[in-house]
Amino acid sequence: MFSGSWTIMTSKLAVYSLIVVTAVFTNAQAKPAATLIVTNAAIYTVDKQRPKAEAVAVIGDRIVAVGSKAEIDSWRGPETKVIDARGKLVLPGFDDAHVHFIQGGAQLDQVDLTDASTPREFAKRIAAQLSKTPKGAWVVGGRWDETKWPDPQLPTKGFVDPISGDTPVFVERYDGHEALANSAAMKLAGVNAKTPDVPGGVIMRDASGNPTGIFKDAAQELIYKAIPPMSHEQRLRIARRAAEHAASLGVTSVHHMNPEFADVAAYSELAERGELTTRIYAAPMETDWKKQADVGIRHAWGSSFLRLGAVKGYADGSLGSRTAYMFEAFADDPGNRGLLSDEMHPPSALRDRLMQADAAGLQLRVHAIGDRAISMMLDIFADIEKEHGYRDQRFSIEHAQHMAQKDFDRFAKLHVIASMQPYHAIDDGRWAEKRLGHERARYSYAWRSFLDHGVTLAFGTDWPVAPLDPMLGLYAAVTRATLDGKNAVGWIPEEKITLAEAVDAYTMGSAFAEFQEREKGSITPGKLADVVILSDNIFQLKLEAIRNVKVQTTIVGGAVVYERATSQ
Ligand SMILES: [Zn+2]
Repeated sequence: MFSGSWTIMTSKLAVYSLIVVTAVFTNAQAKPAATLIVTNAAIYTVDKQRPKAEAVAVIGDRIVAVGSKAEIDSWRGPETKVIDARGKLVLPGFDDAHVHFIQGGAQLDQVDLTDASTPREFAKRIAAQLSKTPKGAWVVGGRWDETKWPDPQLPTKGFVDPISGDTPVFVERYDGHEALANSAAMKLAGVNAKTPDVPGGVIMRDASGNPTGIFKDAAQELIYKAIPPMSHEQRLRIARRAAEHAASLGVTSVHHMNPEFADVAAYSELAERGELTTRIYAAPMETDWKKQADVGIRHAWGSSFLRLGAVKGYADGSLGSRTAYMFEAFADDPGNRGLLSDEMHPPSALRDRLMQADAAGLQLRVHAIGDRAISMMLDIFADIEKEHGYRDQRFSIEHAQHMAQKDFDRFAKLHVIASMQPYHAIDDGRWAEKRLGHERARYSYAWRSFLDHGVTLAFGTDWPVAPLDPMLGLYAAVTRATLDGKNAVGWIPEEKITLAEAVDAYTMGSAFAEFQEREKGSITPGKLADVVILSDNIFQLKLEAIRNVKVQTTIVGGAVVYERATSQ
């Protein structure tokens, strides 16, 4: 007994002297105590210097130490909040590189037509929404997908008119490139048989020239401009809803593509009040580049919760609506090679604006889906780099969906980031070959090819085009198993990537795409304390089970912003 306590005493002494020695050599003052410790965890840090750890210590909003349980325990003080992860997997918070955050937040309370599997169900859900819509308000949102119906025909105003009366309805297709208006909406917008088409858009018409209710791409604006703008209060409420949703899914940062300036104003107010729990990088439309440049905003300007300084552009449409701009005609629509966006009429107009935005120090992020649109964007980026020189501008192509094989080298050489959404591959992969044919589909969602060419991948969702849940994205990236169950070993399996690569793209890759790789993206001392605890260790699961994994706890800047109600 005596010898036993003696042993304990010596080992304690040894520990004390170790601490004293370390303290003397590293800092003359005593080490401050952590405000938060997450311990007993299986941490995957996404930091190549130290990929694995058991615990992390946080002071305020920053990580101060990452290490073994014993190492981190030395940061514990009387006030330290300690979270026992009970052996669960801890990752850096997910950074979604492409969302439409306010549209997503708004959609949480809008009619959801995503999984309406028949026109009858489509009408039924709109009827339910109409019953809770106040007089004078619009029914919007929807995100329907007619390819899921037994007879996949585009809907018409006739689906909605019998139930909607005077209430205007304008519900969009899930990809946002087509939308359906009822007669009341068209009346309010002053659209009728005489309304001409607009550049970059199509008004679908019946045999006698009357609009059917479907508006494609730029033509959607004819109806949208009749919808009263959201109030500031509505926007604040929606931003909070969106942030709550993000926290519940472990998403701690987002890049909001083409927000309205009023959206940014709502974020700004929430950030100032300390109420923002999602870090936002806002990239307003490139057509407004001067508004940012005039006040000297450059890339990634702002605070840790809200940054500006990127511009978002559009080169073309989408594959679903056959408006992606292609070198060859669509396999299922001979003669149609897609559409350039209206901002690309002519392409030199977009080029000139981007040239000026780059000169002003703004980051350029441009939507391009078809192989020809991507190629044209690379031409434009090459022109800009030639004129202004390379200075780590981090151009990005958003989506970069269907690549011409010849363009991978150029993509890499110009240091362009591929900002991609893996979920689209398992969703659109159900029918993409119908549009493209087997051969041309080969370099679709080509993550493996991008990585092998040394291109940085930044992952996201395009929420609300796809669900915001990162687990679905990781699942898609490693399985490429389409949602219809028809590609069990993966659609174009050559383009699968590993789980570690997918996690990397969803954390460090996205952080790099917003110039924040020194601030976040990995669990590293000095970085922002944005971490998530997952219900299961995705590295130990069968790949198909990854999509069912839940987030247990989400921490942003050292504060717990989400905790799952029932822990098991
Ligand atoms: Zn988008």
